[in-house]
Amino acid sequence: MTRKHHKPDWVPENAGAEFTTSVMSGVDGGHDGLPGQTRKAPPHTHIPRRRRLTVDEYVAGVLSGDRNVMAQAITLIESNAAAHFDMAQEVLRQLIPSTGNSIRVGITGVPGVGKSTFIEALGLHLCEQGHKVAVLAVDPSSTVTRGSILGDKTRMELLSRDLRAFIRPSPSAGTLGGVARKSRETILICEAAGFDVILVETVGVGQSETTVRSMVDFFLLLMLAGAGDELQGIKKGIMELADALLVNKADGDNKVRANAARADYNRALHYLAPATEGWRTKAYTCSAVSGDGIGAIWQVIKEFRQQITASGVFAKRRQRQTLDWVYSMVEEHLRTSFFNHSGVGNIRAAVEQAVIEGHLPPTVAAQQLIHQYENY
Ligand code: GDP
Repeated sequence: MTRKHHKPDWVPENAGAEFTTSVMSGVDGGHDGLPGQTRKAPPHTHIPRRRRLTVDEYVAGVLSGDRNVMAQAITLIESNAAAHFDMAQEVLRQLIPSTGNSIRVGITGVPGVGKSTFIEALGLHLCEQGHKVAVLAVDPSSTVTRGSILGDKTRMELLSRDLRAFIRPSPSAGTLGGVARKSRETILICEAAGFDVILVETVGVGQSETTVRSMVDFFLLLMLAGAGDELQGIKKGIMELADALLVNKADGDNKVRANAARADYNRALHYLAPATEGWRTKAYTCSAVSGDGIGAIWQVIKEFRQQITASGVFAKRRQRQTLDWVYSMVEEHLRTSFFNHSGVGNIRAAVEQAVIEGHLPPTVAAQQLIHQYENY
């Protein structure tokens, strides 16, 4: 594939060198692998140089499960530099045969539902069972807030100290498509490094759920009892994406309400199409604080994997997800290319005005813009 790159003005030479704990910070910047996006250097910034790894060193380090190299490889993927992009793709190309051997679980729910508490409890449970657990996050909104989920190192403190776990905050900044590409590639790095459970956390708002659904095998929706569906921002569409609903905080006085909510959700689920062919989505309860129900939800995930692997749905879904990923990148590239096209830019305002004023039918307007894009 030939790619046009704009050389970035500034590239961190020591990206990833700040590795100190198992919680890694991401790389700033909005490049998502598509042309036409650069960032400006802060003036007079001194970046100490550090010897860059070669492609072979990245590949060997990741395959041997070296956490430091793994973190640097992810930083390479998240980098905004054209040279890093090509190198990262070569590293991935060599690692691809060693990827895929995991269960990828997406976890969503509104802020405050207990996602990070739950992920820590589940992660520790899995580490005790001998699994290697990678925790990633997809949060395109972190561009604005700078406070990406998982970014706060005090969250998941116990899990972040466990050497069988690897925690990586959301790549900051960029379009959802760009953040998603980096997260998908990070999943591959973690798998090549031997992580067999990948937990992907998403903020429970906006488009990010659909995107995370498209990169995981099992999608878990955390809920609260009695918060009201509107309060939880839960739309029927999101329930339809889930392979399980888990009512969290089923402890103390809240236990009875949690059980009632589970029964309500089970009734509602009866009328919805299942997210995964051949699997019935059900509601469960747990307490991320006491640990009740954590082992049980893992059993559900294991049963899911067994059942849909046997039916062939697991492999089919992964194949489809990979192809969808390819075409979503093509779409994003074409969209960027269209809106950056100077010929389109020259006539856009006039065409839009004519449509708004009712002089030009939308279909004709689209034809004119595409004609301009293809011929000028
Ligand atoms: P997130 O925003 O979805 O990641 O939610 P957090 O994991 O940060 O949890 C939000 C609050 O709910 C924190 O104060 C947690 O201690 C609390 N919390 C999380 N899980 C439980 C639970 O199972 N039971 C109770 N009682 N509190 C919980």
